[in-house]
Amino acid sequence: MQLIKKITTYSNAENLLDKFLADKVKRYGQMRNFDFGNIEKNFVSGLSPAINKRIISEHQIASKLLQNFKYTDVEKFIEQLCWRTYWKGYLEHYSQIWDSYVKDLEALERDVDLAAAINAKTGIKCFDHWVEELIETGHLHNHSRMWFASIWVFTLELPWQLGASFFMENLLDADCASNTLSWRWVSGLHTKGKNYLASPSNIKKFTGQRFEPIGQLATEAKPITTDDYSGSYIHSEKVNKVKDIQCYMIHENDLSHEQIPNCEFLLIQKYNFGMIERSAIVKKFIDDALKNLQVEIKKGSPAKIVFFTFDERKKLKAFIEKNKISKIYSSYPTVGPIEKELEDLFTVLTVKHEYLLSAWDQLFWPYTSKGYFKLRTKIPAILNTLFTKKELDA
Ligand SMILES: Cc1cc2nc3c(=O)[nH]c(=O)nc-3n(C[C@H](O)[C@H](O)[C@H](O)COP(=O)(O)OP(=O)(O)OC[C@H]3O[C@@H](n4cnc5c(N)ncnc54)[C@H](O)[C@@H]3O)c2cc1C
Repeated sequence: MQLIKKITTYSNAENLLDKFLADKVKRYGQMRNFDFGNIEKNFVSGLSPAINKRIISEHQIASKLLQNFKYTDVEKFIEQLCWRTYWKGYLEHYSQIWDSYVKDLEALERDVDLAAAINAKTGIKCFDHWVEELIETGHLHNHSRMWFASIWVFTLELPWQLGASFFMENLLDADCASNTLSWRWVSGLHTKGKNYLASPSNIKKFTGQRFEPIGQLATEAKPITTDDYSGSYIHSEKVNKVKDIQCYMIHENDLSHEQIPNCEFLLIQKYNFGMIERSAIVKKFIDDALKNLQVEIKKGSPAKIVFFTFDERKKLKAFIEKNKISKIYSSYPTVGPIEKELEDLFTVLTVKHEYLLSAWDQLFWPYTSKGYFKLRTKIPAILNTLFTKKELDA
């Protein structure tokens, strides 16, 4: 688990990727659903906290995969990688889902049943184990997340929103889109009439016989209702190549090197955004990632570097006025609290701003408004556009 906490630099994330490619990727399709209890034994990459903050990007990962493997050998892994892209794009299309989740969270009561669940006192051994594992490590295997969410919703009959919020607070890879929409998927709210019901035999098989909660789990899923959401605005008009940038802002939702343009001033977020409820280890992960990026940039960039925090608005305003900054660019933060904060900040600062979208998001997001299958069929063609034909056919 230490490995995951260290992927706060591109080189550490790349090393983890290399290790995964050398030792595990070939068995990924067959073995990815097994959770043997720790990342070293499992056959998944453990890269999501780094991908989530774009310490290493989907583009960089796909490029490395296609340089070293035949597409068919890594197809399953690429398809999984694209689930992140799918959820991200989906939430862009239906951003009301995020707004109503936040509103629901404010209104929901926190009762004794919730306290029992988040204090690992349900008496369901596997569930209590996952609570402790999540709090201690900031990570859970995907299959364990599915079982966890299913038990939360259908056995403990707790609101999915509170479970999603518990994950957001404790996961190193906490992601507004993947998390909210996965909880909704398990609950049967993403694909109408299709939910995910955890079963003791499935848990036994895929935990390598570590758990088998016979007689403790719901055997049917009570339907949960939701509002219907219609498609909304998607940020497809944003561009990723702009010349003559005077000031570029780096925020915690995108710490990629590849996106940083040449510019006169680089505004870099100093600490994790304090208005989001997060555990100490999650805060540390983000602070370490920000610090490492600051060190890297200082070494290599001729730009003048200025650190900012979201709560020091007066300081930012003074910097903008002193340096006659007419427009601030930054990478698009995607739906969630950072986007809301930035929108508010730019309004208060009365400075123009423009978001830049990565080529990856730009090409994939148009196919994310319906089911995942629609996007999946487009993956080879989009990768062909992003890379060279030769890489895909190799
Ligand atoms: C209830 C629930 C909540 C979740 N919350 C989050 C979250 O907050 N943040 C988050 O990043 N993921 C979330 N996921 C998705 C998934 O569990 C993690 O992305 C995955 O466990 C990451 O581990 P890995 O990097 O070892 O994955 P690998 O299997 O190695 O996959 C490689 C990459 O593909 C992507 N990926 C793989 N599976 C999924 C998936 N099912 N959904 C989305 N992307 C995927 C991730 O970027 C991952 O890093 C959630 C899943 C569930 C069921």
